[in-house]
Amino acid sequence: MHELSICQSLLDQARQIADQNKAGIETIVVLIGPLSGVEAPLLAQAFSIARQAAGFPDTELEIELSSVRIRCRQCGSESKVPNNALLCGSCQSWRVELISGDEMILKSLVLIEKPAVMVKAG
Ligand SMILES: [Zn+2]
Repeated sequence: MHELSICQSLLDQARQIADQNKAGIETIVVLIGPLSGVEAPLLAQAFSIARQAAGFPDTELEIELSSVRIRCRQCGSESKVPNNALLCGSCQSWRVELISGDEMILKSLVLIEKPAVMVKAG
């Protein structure tokens, strides 16, 4: 499953950052573009499996969806377009380049202090 391996690498990245900060992970925030080929519901489903395997059963996944943005090579304007119609919003040219919409990135993490350990004194 494609989404499962994505979740594993997200959790690996998150673990490194959390370890550097000696913290636990409360939430992992990812940004997904409509052209990334990643399906948000499948990713969420895969995450609930992957977090158990990674030893983060309480970590939540938050998915943010980006929009498709293009820059026109003809007139230079930037537009936000539906993902099935990559045409310039100003001049309708198809000579465009993608600015965003195909990304799948670890955007941010919410870290928490690791639970304190109670030590009996006396
Ligand atoms: Zn244009």
